[in-house]
Amino acid sequence: MAQPNDPSPRKWAIAIHGGAGGNAATWTEEKKTKRLAGLKQALDAGKTILMNGGTSLDAVEATIRVLEDDPAFNAGRGAVVTADGRAELDASIMDGKTHACGAVAAVTNVKNPISLARLVMTETKHVLLVSQGAEAFAAEQKVPLVDPSYFLSAQPVVDFDPLLVQSTGQIDSSNSSRIGTVGCVCLDSHGNLAAGTSTGGTNKKLHGRVGDSPIIGAGTYASNDTCAVSGTGIGEEFIRNSVAYDISAQMKYAQKSVEAAVTDVIRNRLKPDDGGVIALSKNGEITLQHNTPSMSCGAADSQGRFEVMLGVKQ
Ligand code: ASP
Repeated sequence: MAQPNDPSPRKWAIAIHGGAGGNAATWTEEKKTKRLAGLKQALDAGKTILMNGGTSLDAVEATIRVLEDDPAFNAGRGAVVTADGRAELDASIMDGKTHACGAVAAVTNVKNPISLARLVMTETKHVLLVSQGAEAFAAEQKVPLVDPSYFLSAQPVVDFDPLLVQSTGQIDSSNSSRIGTVGCVCLDSHGNLAAGTSTGGTNKKLHGRVGDSPIIGAGTYASNDTCAVSGTGIGEEFIRNSVAYDISAQMKYAQKSVEAAVTDVIRNRLKPDDGGVIALSKNGEITLQHNTPSMSCGAADSQGRFEVMLGVKQ
């Protein structure tokens, strides 16, 4: 029983996703086990920070780094490749308290793009750095760099078919080829929200294509007034519909619950099979929704919830 002088335990919560591509019902047991183990490890990393009084930004970054280092996900090491066979990575992070945010796009040699995105937020006056500019900044900041082959060596997750690419030269954003973008939303015990997303983008995308994950308001958004959001799916649709900001705006201007706002976006703004969203309100309510067959995801909170799954019954 709590003693009178004990500080009352403060509420914290975390949700993660590992992408809404593919159909888990068709995956091998090995793939399902790897996915679930990766989600659990990441959720645990974030939970440990939050339950020890750490900040939502630290928890988002640490959680996403675990997923970026895991080849089972389309972010960092397991990034899918462009039509011409390169890994070009995107990431963003946002602080719900200050609305500070940072993002990087089309980086090819940065081991953990989420950490570089955070440095863009804290060490520059900009929001988004791309390509060689972002890589020069990465070198300056001394973040771990890798040879681009580091990403290509993890390709068994998705088969890269150069012949197919040569014959079509098209962005292949069909559901079967999209896997495992990662995201995290956190509420810390100080009452602050944060959100982050990291991805290799869509499989066989055109060289230079940037999706929603590094676009604040599309793939990522956080505001202490409303909620924190991370999305996964066909990035072009998330950008067209300003998905992450729309959820926050529905809460702010139409006083909707986080659940109702996400349901509206998933059912009425996006098209069936476009993707999924994880969101967390300033009060700690978590919602995990997708209009694809599956979405790898998980949630934990100070009430004792801790679960990971490959999809949520809608
Ligand atoms: N949204 C990501 C993009 O379009 C891909 C994904 O979530 O699977 O780059």
